[in-house]
Amino acid sequence: MRFQTKNVHFQEKLESNEISKTKPIYQTSAFSFQDLDDMENFFQGKKDYLYTRMGNPNTDDLGKGVADLEGAEMGVATSSGISAILAGVLAIAKSGDHIIATEDLYGGTYQLFAHELADFNIDVSFVNFENIDAVEKEIRDETVLLYTESITNPLLRVEDLQRFTELAKKYGLKTMVDNTFATPYLIRPHEYEVDLVVHSATKYIGGHSDLSAGVLTGNRELMEKAKSKVVHLGSNLGPFDGWLATRGLKTLSLRMEKQCRNASVLAEVLRDKPQVKQVFYPKHASDKGNGAIVTIDLADGSDVYEFFRQLDWVKVVPTLAGVETSVTYPVGTSHRPLPEETRERLGVTASMVRISVGIEDEEDIIDVFNKALASAEFK
Ligand SMILES: *Cc1c(COP(=O)(O)O)cnc(C)c1O
Repeated sequence: MRFQTKNVHFQEKLESNEISKTKPIYQTSAFSFQDLDDMENFFQGKKDYLYTRMGNPNTDDLGKGVADLEGAEMGVATSSGISAILAGVLAIAKSGDHIIATEDLYGGTYQLFAHELADFNIDVSFVNFENIDAVEKEIRDETVLLYTESITNPLLRVEDLQRFTELAKKYGLKTMVDNTFATPYLIRPHEYEVDLVVHSATKYIGGHSDLSAGVLTGNRELMEKAKSKVVHLGSNLGPFDGWLATRGLKTLSLRMEKQCRNASVLAEVLRDKPQVKQVFYPKHASDKGNGAIVTIDLADGSDVYEFFRQLDWVKVVPTLAGVETSVTYPVGTSHRPLPEETRERLGVTASMVRISVGIEDEEDIIDVFNKALASAEFK
């Protein structure tokens, strides 16, 4: 099956005795059995479900749907993007191990790596992945994992995944990529032999800003380890959120196509504005588009607060990827946890605005940003 067909047909046909066209929501904490022999079937691997923390049809559906699109053997859905990242990391790294991560990480991932993993005695170095020699120099005997994002936030650097996996292979290291911004519609890191791909399904997979979820994909061996972490650390996703995310997933192609097109038009328009010092928008992320996030740095002396006040119907939110266009102030939200010197080195400035472009009519999107830019012009 091709991408779009797979995108809506990942669910198995239902049992013949079921009458619902869509998969029902198994809103249950556990599953019941005819008798003890029947229950034994679960432990013999002849039945799939026992207890929702260990597995549920709706959450398994989400894992499978994303794994199909990523081209992976197995996927597991979790309670959030962060818990999916943690499960993936702990499937590879244990106490005493070392990880090298890109320094332009999503803020929440930075928090997890810099502070929480230290308590597990897992050491993380943050390196500029544009400088692959610097990454190589950081590799030590204890290093087990290289971690990056396919399109970074908020400056939208597109990772060179070929070079990334080549370096890992040279030293026998595992690799993990956060594919949240790109989605499998644009980039499929497993095609570059990345070991684990992770998503905040809270973003484009769900697509409607109405749930928190994560998905991790990879080969069966590694994913069985990751799944065991999810079960034993209790970071499973609830059935209803699994069902909602699965519903959202089916329109991933349509949403991405429209959102990427709107974003590329907006990026072009903003490039010509005197009130905009710089536009960040990828050039060659994929042959299907360059993503739906546009980051701008306002001209010196612009009134950022006034810009945010004048955005009319565009909501100011600390997230991205919904069908509605929204904006974020990275320095105030996603990048607040990063040390100021790191932010400065990365070029994440106090005049930076990250726009998550939605599915509205492009003329309306352009109008609203034109108006806000005019209001923000020079204090
Ligand atoms: C939002 C986000 C996360 C964290 O996901 P949650 O669902 O909020 O836990 C991780 N990585 C990226 C790139 C994100 O945008």
